[in-house]
Amino acid sequence: MKITRKIVHIDEEKCNGCGLCVAPCAEGAIEIVDGKAKVVREELCDGAGFCLGICPTGALTIEEREAEAFDEHAVEEKMREHGPVELDVQCFRCGASEHVAPLIPVRTEGNSRWVCTRCLPSLIHG
Ligand code: SF4
Repeated sequence: MKITRKIVHIDEEKCNGCGLCVAPCAEGAIEIVDGKAKVVREELCDGAGFCLGICPTGALTIEEREAEAFDEHAVEEKMREHGPVELDVQCFRCGASEHVAPLIPVRTEGNSRWVCTRCLPSLIHG
């Protein structure tokens, strides 16, 4: 069922196909097709924009348009299919992995980086 809602928009001109946005999308909505990131199944994209901060080229934004409604059951099925995704990323401040503290993608000083929740307060407050 199509509704008007917020969903990820990928600017193909800016996308270099690096694939950094694929794994952070826990729902599995983004895949690389012909060298460009694509929202392959609209119903898997919740429009929360968790992937935005990790894109090094600024290709990802949130737009409001007509799209398939977000489907939690389809997400659960997709996540069962591919299992837990292990990312080889660490906090840029302390080096912690996701097993030590939750990691969040951020844009800082012109770079896309991961920061752990222990270091996030000092990143925010200096
Ligand atoms: S992170 Fe950005 S540049 Fe890389 S594949 Fe995704 S949209 Fe394209």
